[in-house]
Amino acid sequence: MEKKGLLIVVSGFSGAGKGTVVKKLVEDYGYSLSVSATTRQPREGEVDGKDYYFKTVDEFRSLIDYNGFIEWAQYVDNYYGTPRKFVEEEMNAGRDVILEIEVQGAMNIKKQYKDAVLIFITAPSAEVLRDRLKGRGTESEEAIAKRLKRASEESEDMDFYEYIVVNDELDTCVQKVNSVILAKKCEKEYNIKLIEDMKSSLKEI
Ligand code: 5GP
Repeated sequence: MEKKGLLIVVSGFSGAGKGTVVKKLVEDYGYSLSVSATTRQPREGEVDGKDYYFKTVDEFRSLIDYNGFIEWAQYVDNYYGTPRKFVEEEMNAGRDVILEIEVQGAMNIKKQYKDAVLIFITAPSAEVLRDRLKGRGTESEEAIAKRLKRASEESEDMDFYEYIVVNDELDTCVQKVNSVILAKKCEKEYNIKLIEDMKSSLKEI
């Protein structure tokens, strides 16, 4: 049987640029990207089925009831969840899947998938983060304040992640994240079966 794909969890502060980093990882290195479901309103330019599956609260709740998510969480005032079917199919086909999710979801994933790699993307400093959030221009003052407060809470969980990558320059950040993924795939723990197979085959050869 082909080896299962790796689950790659990418989290980070809102405004740290993780969306752009993830997009480039998918484009440049061909990782699969899980599209989440959410109850939040689409932002301008966002496409249903591409950026998110936009759901009503009732639709979202019934997906929870049918075990349709591998994890879900409430973030600010909305629900977000990772659809089970796509992730399981991709991993079973040996493809590595990126989940761009927040910290509660990341913790939930690590409980279920010990092999998952957890990466946190951050801006170089709190000031840069605030300026990037303001510069995005898609959010009201109130929403920015809420996201900064949330970022402050999330910073408490940064040390839960296995890798912290600063997003100062996009291409460098993308390369660093890809290096983390490649290193993870070379870890001894990730290759137990290969080691066992080599040992037993070499005895017989
Ligand atoms: P945004 O509203 O800015 O698109 O996303 C808000 C936060 O929700 C981000 O931190 C994003 O990574 C997270 N998020 C997106 N999809 C999911 C998901 O399926 N599960 C969880 N737990 N968080 C998600």
